[in-house]
Amino acid sequence: MFTNLADGPHSANRQCDLLILGAGPAGITVALETAAKAPDLNIIVAEAGGLEPSSAAELDLYAGDSEGSSPYSLSTTRLRYFGGTSGHWGGWCRPLDAIDFIARQQAGLAGWPINKPELMSHYRAAHQWLDIPDDNYDPKRLEPGLQEKLIDFSGNEWFQNRLFHFSPPTRFGTKYRSAIEQSDSIECLLNAAAVSYEHTDTRLNKVTVGGLHGQQITIQANRVVIAMGGMESARHLLLMQQQGWQAAGLNSPKLARGFADHFGLRPGILQLQADRIYQRTESSTGPVMPIITPTPEALTSEAWQNACMMLQITPAANRLPPGYTNHQALGFLGGDTWSYTVQMVLQPRSNENSRLELSTQTDALGLPRIKLFWEIDPRDYQSAQSIFTRFTHEIGRLGLGRGQLKPLDTKLRRRSASGTAHHMGTARMAEHAADGVVDRNLKVFGTDNLYVAGSAVFPSFGYSNPTMTIVALAHRLAAHLTATGTH
Ligand SMILES: Cc1cc2nc3c(=O)[nH]c(=O)nc-3n(C[C@H](O)[C@H](O)[C@H](O)COP(=O)(O)OP(=O)(O)OC[C@H]3O[C@@H](n4cnc5c(N)ncnc54)[C@H](O)[C@@H]3O)c2cc1C
Repeated sequence: MFTNLADGPHSANRQCDLLILGAGPAGITVALETAAKAPDLNIIVAEAGGLEPSSAAELDLYAGDSEGSSPYSLSTTRLRYFGGTSGHWGGWCRPLDAIDFIARQQAGLAGWPINKPELMSHYRAAHQWLDIPDDNYDPKRLEPGLQEKLIDFSGNEWFQNRLFHFSPPTRFGTKYRSAIEQSDSIECLLNAAAVSYEHTDTRLNKVTVGGLHGQQITIQANRVVIAMGGMESARHLLLMQQQGWQAAGLNSPKLARGFADHFGLRPGILQLQADRIYQRTESSTGPVMPIITPTPEALTSEAWQNACMMLQITPAANRLPPGYTNHQALGFLGGDTWSYTVQMVLQPRSNENSRLELSTQTDALGLPRIKLFWEIDPRDYQSAQSIFTRFTHEIGRLGLGRGQLKPLDTKLRRRSASGTAHHMGTARMAEHAADGVVDRNLKVFGTDNLYVAGSAVFPSFGYSNPTMTIVALAHRLAAHLTATGTH
């Protein structure tokens, strides 16, 4: 059922077993999965927005400063209404690779306290949530006509082919609205942004929610899940810290540090055999995108960050002379070549300087605004350059074409970097309180009843877009919450 606070007045207080703050993919998955597994639990979802996209005044509640070395928009990279940012997302999906969960210090990458096999059943469920019928990411399962358009990397020690799948994309606010509306155990409060918190040493007891309409109610909850997206969740954890809550996770030096986003790079161009397909295309089981990635062995031996490459056909500049690739004496296999721009997405390093802080400015609800310092580690560009250099060598060695590197001007690239609206790393998951904000069950260290869902908890990031992993973790959190009872 929905209750719109803006239609108020409503009875001042509520009590529940589980309070979920935020109704994006993370919050909606936790709510509906928990309700399905434990129908006797009384669940409240408090969502800052309504059922329709927010007004300019409401969106202004997301505004803040961006003061890092690369520009970043705080307000256009997230939405504030039921369904969250899935109202905008593009549907690119892929689970993280097994190696993404493993700490690799030489590459500047933290590990996860869980491994991929522990997440596999939840990834399978996430495919259903995201309406992706196929969870096979091996391009060998593509029909022959498509396989012919991929580079044959069989036995190659450096590179391999992999796939992305695509969600339609599922709009959580549309697809799951009626399930929430008809649920006997979930009440979703709309226009109900969390604005203040009451806690003891280890428990968050009460949350007050309200909005620009002026109505407020206070909710007493046994357990609380913060699912407000990767920036806003960190903002609210910082607020609790500012209010003097001493719980270990809130006082962690990692809180709101290590903010990361995937950013696109164009490390160079390729003259490569014609008609290669490393872009979104239709396959017999739905849309896919073949990608080229380094092998796990190469990532380990070269201490590279993980990455994927797509190829975009471009008008030929700096072409090889006509007929050049027919010279088998020069090591070419023959045939036409096309010119491709390489688009790379690189796993960012965990960078402590990249962070969110509370500003001294406040928004219309009286909450401190955020200041973002998005800092890309310059070594990210070197890793990308090193991967692409090796790739051009391989393309040459295999007789498929030639590559050309763009000059590496790190300062210029950082100034012109653009993110992909993946807000990760600000409430990292860790085995021990010294290394993160939440534990392996997503509970804030030092608290008994406060959890975080969403990409804020990612300790490292792979190159895959985050929503598939966000939904898998939310599914896992629901299983944990139901297995551990109501308190
Ligand atoms: C243009 C665009 C394209 C994208 N494309 C992709 C893609 O192709 N693949 C992919 O994996 N990801 C993509 N993303 C990212 C994807 O949208 C997010 O990863 C995903 O929506 C995060 O889900 P979430 O539930 O954690 O957070 P959100 O979706 O941001 O939901 C958070 C919810 O919390 C609510 N909220 C905020 N503050 C409060 C408060 N104080 N109290 C209560 N509620 C609050 C918000 O209103 C919102 O409903 C894209 C994002 C954008 C902007």
